[in-house]
Amino acid sequence: MGPLDRDPSGATAIASGDSLALRCGGGCETWGGKLASAPISLQVQNENKSEGRSLDASILHADLDAFYASVEQLLEPPLRGKPIAVGGGVVLAASYEARAFGVRSGMPGRRARELCPDLIFTGGHFSEYGRLGDAAIDILRDFTPEIERISIDEAFADVSGSTQLFGSPQDIARAVRTRVRAELGLAISIGVARTKHLAKIASQVAKPDGMVVVDPTTELAFLHDLPVELMWGVGPATKEKLARQGIETIGQLALSSPMAMERVLGRAIGRKLVALSWNRDPRAIQTHRRAISAGAQSALGRKPATEAVFRPVLQRLADRIARRLRAKDRPCRTVTVRVRFADMRAVTRALTLPAPICATSALTEVAVDLVRGVLADHIEERTISLLAISASNLGEDPFPQLELPFALADDGRWPGTRKGKLRERADRALDAIRERFGVEAVGYASGVLAGHRTGPDRFRELTEQEL
Ligand SMILES: [Mg+2]
Repeated sequence: MGPLDRDPSGATAIASGDSLALRCGGGCETWGGKLASAPISLQVQNENKSEGRSLDASILHADLDAFYASVEQLLEPPLRGKPIAVGGGVVLAASYEARAFGVRSGMPGRRARELCPDLIFTGGHFSEYGRLGDAAIDILRDFTPEIERISIDEAFADVSGSTQLFGSPQDIARAVRTRVRAELGLAISIGVARTKHLAKIASQVAKPDGMVVVDPTTELAFLHDLPVELMWGVGPATKEKLARQGIETIGQLALSSPMAMERVLGRAIGRKLVALSWNRDPRAIQTHRRAISAGAQSALGRKPATEAVFRPVLQRLADRIARRLRAKDRPCRTVTVRVRFADMRAVTRALTLPAPICATSALTEVAVDLVRGVLADHIEERTISLLAISASNLGEDPFPQLELPFALADDGRWPGTRKGKLRERADRALDAIRERFGVEAVGYASGVLAGHRTGPDRFRELTEQEL
């Protein structure tokens, strides 16, 4: 865990240098570490004053621990305390007991079994993931309306307006953790800091089942000893590039030349990461993020590039996207498809329509046409490994325009045509049935006959839920 060591005594504070890096209340994890020297702390204070921003740490980042695996252990008591993985061919999620053996999500199941011979693979309780994720975020919402959900199991919350009612941000974080544990039986880790970036890092440091509050006066001392990969936006590739420059901690990144970082990482990312390494993050909580597109994709392995293969897959993807478009009353005008061939080379093709659409059949037909076009231009490609559809140019108008140019044939694609209207009614009926009885209850024959959704597909759907 790098320079940070968990304090086994559970004491409320650790000060190994001349100042305190972070504070935690009773019952939460307490962390201490090598503290940076005084000049850095001084710089933080000056910076805060000059920017005139709040000095309070009132942004929470709450993140459920090993979410999918924890839900499985919650629902199947015999799995508790055991190394488990959700998935089969590929590990989709692993419990902490499995992670201790080096099992990670995305790892082939075979490799995971080599690392951990007692590993238990389980299927996924997919509908429960959605329900429990929503329930945890709803508990957070009881303390503030300023919530920005960023995935099924994590959200930011700004509690600066809630302290009169519920106590300090630290008290609120503690109350949320207690309630999520008591009402849902799940562990949620929370980071509390002055910025979103730092709160997200703090929640990662707090895991498993902990809470870390970063005191604004010593935040750089906390941040700079941590490894760069804890930063938002530093994935394996960026980590590797930085390591080649001898940069492994956030402090080393902060002290490197911004010009050099722009050269290594590109201008925009280089600048952004250097700013974040000084905890310069002006982003506020966005409670109403308006999506600009909705997409879905399916990995196929290696399948022949024939219509019998790609049409049912596109139908399923279009079904997922169109359902979300209709639910949010945001029809799309631009449809983009991505076709990846056997050698991982991908071709993208888009079409902007004269009128917005949100019918499953219309989206399917447009996507099928586009993929036909791609394959006609790449006649030498006989194998496809991935198909994706993205719908963009989303309308704000809940009532799609019904009058259309006469040139458009009544082929059922357009909401204004007779056939189009019938198709829209069929879609809405399907949506209503699925809303009540679940997505599996009913479907288009062509999609249903194409076989069941795979585990990885269903995981992808969970991450696609926010339009
Ligand atoms: Mg999580």
